Amino acid sequence: MYYNNETLVYFNGNFVKAKDAQTDLYGQSLHYGYSVFEGIKSYKTDEGTKIFKAEEHYDRLRRSAALMQIPFSYSTQELTDLTYQLLELNKLSDAYIRPLVICSPNMSLTKGKQSFLTLLTWEWDNGYLADKARIMTSSFQRPNPKAFLMEAKVGGHYVNSILASQEAKDKGYDEALVLDEKGNVAESSGANVFYEKDGMLYTPAKGSILPGITRNTVFEICKELNIPVKETFFKPDEMRGADAAFFCGTAAEIVALDSLDDVPFTKNWKDTASDKVQQAYQKLVRVRSL
Ligand code: PMP
Repeated sequence: MYYNNETLVYFNGNFVKAKDAQTDLYGQSLHYGYSVFEGIKSYKTDEGTKIFKAEEHYDRLRRSAALMQIPFSYSTQELTDLTYQLLELNKLSDAYIRPLVICSPNMSLTKGKQSFLTLLTWEWDNGYLADKARIMTSSFQRPNPKAFLMEAKVGGHYVNSILASQEAKDKGYDEALVLDEKGNVAESSGANVFYEKDGMLYTPAKGSILPGITRNTVFEICKELNIPVKETFFKPDEMRGADAAFFCGTAAEIVALDSLDDVPFTKNWKDTASDKVQQAYQKLVRVRSL
């Protein structure tokens, strides 16, 4: 359950109880997926609760709104301050934070006239890292980048993610690997992907992916640890049977992958550069922002 009778959310200028917050049934966001959102994590650290990469997330939220022509006037600093207040009001430290920007009633297919910000948060202690994920190549492609603005984090894009993720689960896998319209590896339903071969990491170049903040953090970690990393386009064939691979995202953090289409990644995880990246990430989120 995401909330109880006492949970507070920020909605349209006020902190209100989640159970009392109301929206209307005539908004473009509900009908057409015309909303922008973020997925952020906060962590309990030695210096108290820290939102990881708050500035990057709220800059991206504002950029997503601008790309979608949704009017949105909050600054990154205001958004960050409101989020710390919300965490404190709900007495949360290790938490997931979901900012969502929705549009006012308007059934026509025109740009947003007015928007409402909502901030939701719930407790999240990470259970993702326990098991390696078995993934399959999805039969669904990523949305065509000429049909959508793929660098924006838009509600409607996630219909594709639901199709891909559910297909994988229905077939007995943990998650999907989704290709672009040219058959290149793009990403998962809600995370970016890297694979490792001979000590080098490879990740899909921008185009059909959401360029993740965690993906950038992986680049920063690789620089610090002298791990070579390359952004490039590649087919699933090149990734299948590689030394190691992982998904990365704010919610997922760094998830080791067991196999792609039942072909295992071959190296012992503890002997890989990917393991070093995973460990460095775990340390980073609990110490300070880079
Ligand atoms: N791709 C998709 C489709 C996602 O939903 C996410 C999660 N926001 C990511 C990648 C990873 O992005 P980030 O590292 O910024 O969380």
